Amino acid sequence: MLKRYLLAPGPTPVPPEVLLSMAMPIIHHRSPDFLPVLDSAKKGLQWLFQTKNDVLILASTGTGGMVGAVNNFFNPGEKVLVINGGKFGERWTKICQAYGLRVEEIVVEWGYSIKPALVESALKKDSEIKAVFVQATETSTGVYHDIKGLGSVIKNYPDTLFIVDAISALVAEDIRTDEWGIDVMVGGSQKGLMLPPGLAFVSVSDKAWKKSEASKMPRFYFNFKKERENLAKNQTNFTSAVTLIIGLNEAIKILQKEGLENVFKRHARLANATREAVKALGLGIYSKESPSNSVTAIEMPEGIDGQLVYKTLREKYGITGAGGQDKAKGKIYRMAHLGYADTFDVITGIAALEMVLKQLGHPIRLGTGVARAQELLME
Ligand SMILES: *Cc1c(COP(=O)(O)O)cnc(C)c1O
Repeated sequence: MLKRYLLAPGPTPVPPEVLLSMAMPIIHHRSPDFLPVLDSAKKGLQWLFQTKNDVLILASTGTGGMVGAVNNFFNPGEKVLVINGGKFGERWTKICQAYGLRVEEIVVEWGYSIKPALVESALKKDSEIKAVFVQATETSTGVYHDIKGLGSVIKNYPDTLFIVDAISALVAEDIRTDEWGIDVMVGGSQKGLMLPPGLAFVSVSDKAWKKSEASKMPRFYFNFKKERENLAKNQTNFTSAVTLIIGLNEAIKILQKEGLENVFKRHARLANATREAVKALGLGIYSKESPSNSVTAIEMPEGIDGQLVYKTLREKYGITGAGGQDKAKGKIYRMAHLGYADTFDVITGIAALEMVLKQLGHPIRLGTGVARAQELLME
């Protein structure tokens, strides 16, 4: 037998209460059985997003929410600014281009975070920029971007929307949608929300709704206006993902019981212990600035292949983390502490990493990283 542990930055483990809630018989999405379920989910999401805005619930992966954030607010040929600091920044550019937007990029070196002043000077120089797209956490590099700082810049530009992919940051980071002026924020079910893949969530501000009225981009499935009209009736435009939304209510219940502030503190505590354990082992953190509380990108020592570490952890120890992508492939191993995660997920992940590094010939004293994590997690 090999007991399995999921320590990837999505999908993440699902708590037993949530799994059980999803084992109930299917109810009909237009029936009185379901309407209170959706009502409670939409209110729970507003709580989690820290917003009074509508939060749409879409049956898709997170990327579906990103597509909707592009094709509901603009017209082909309009210019937008994408902050590209990794694989997911790249995805914003590809989606925008697929819908005929003119994309200007600020390329951020992998492992670093955006300086809001760079966005400010881009917006000052070019009044044609209709939106700024960014990741809250760039999952490929483990960097959290300064969403608060960006918000304070962009809110001075009444014709520019601030669009945030918070798919991997939601739940792990304190992101204040309304206070910071985020117009469109995208979340997904299989990361911090402790659910299976299959739901995207999108909050939309009044500023964004106004802009959407003038948008003539082709759309059918991700039609936010129709979703908004349905949401007001506690329904969705097409068949609701009833099972996942029942699970969503259960997951939100768990988070509400803990309290939002404690949820963020837990993630910060686990992330800090992971980083310090990694440093105690003499390894580097790939995120040179603003490391995220969702996932830690760990630099591999000279001569150790990150993909082999990933593979050995999976096959020998049953631990599924994540390797690096593109130019970081082989150079890093990523370990998440996101969603249904606590003290012994970190201990397990670090202990197994030590064992694999030693097995692959890296001189390590077993227990060094674990001891450091234990010290910090006892505080
Ligand atoms: C996981 C993730 C996504 C979305 O991925 P899907 O596979 O479409 O759910 C988008 N952005 C970031 C930052 C992510 O971590």
